[in-house]
Amino acid sequence: MSDIFVIVGPSGVGKGTVLRELLEREPRCWLSVSATTRPPRPGEADGADYFFVTPEGFDDLVREGGMLEWALVHGANRYGTPKEPVLRALDEGRVPILEVDLDGARQIRRSLPEAAQIFMAPPSWQELERRLAERGTESGQERERRLETARRELAAVGEFDAVVVNDSVSRATDELLHIMGLAG
Ligand code: 5GP
Repeated sequence: MSDIFVIVGPSGVGKGTVLRELLEREPRCWLSVSATTRPPRPGEADGADYFFVTPEGFDDLVREGGMLEWALVHGANRYGTPKEPVLRALDEGRVPILEVDLDGARQIRRSLPEAAQIFMAPPSWQELERRLAERGTESGQERERRLETARRELAAVGEFDAVVVNDSVSRATDELLHIMGLAG
């Protein structure tokens, strides 16, 4: 069993929902809170959904070596995984889960090759488009950019150790727990 799990999946695939259910069902798991330069969406809380930082604050974290990985996502904002909380979670015997984009996953593959890399895929391209539109958190232009990123991500699915299709939240959670060696 791997100690750290990396989850990648296109925007709108339902990673957040599945990971919420997984954390409820498996308290040993710990979800990393990323730092981002993106402004908060309505209802998002600093320190819970993300650490919302200024571009200068992000630069400082990178310069101090405080990021496990970071990337420019959707060509717009920077997102990164703060290193210290991951090390602390490991120390506490918890199972860290890092939700990152494709570039972040590739960086982690080099720096932490022992981490298991899991891709979450939609049941179909049409369904991904539908979920993203239904979520309604992005403008038409931002949605297009996310779909462009999604095409690139789906093309890289072969790089991953496992693929979980999110056709139903409870089934995808079951499969994820099974892959992580935490089922039953
Ligand atoms: P959103 O803006 O919708 O919250 O997130 C956009 C995307 O940013 C996510 O789908 C995920 O791929 C990526 N992301 C979130 N946190 C991180 C992180 O810490 N590192 C990297 N590389 N990407 C992240």
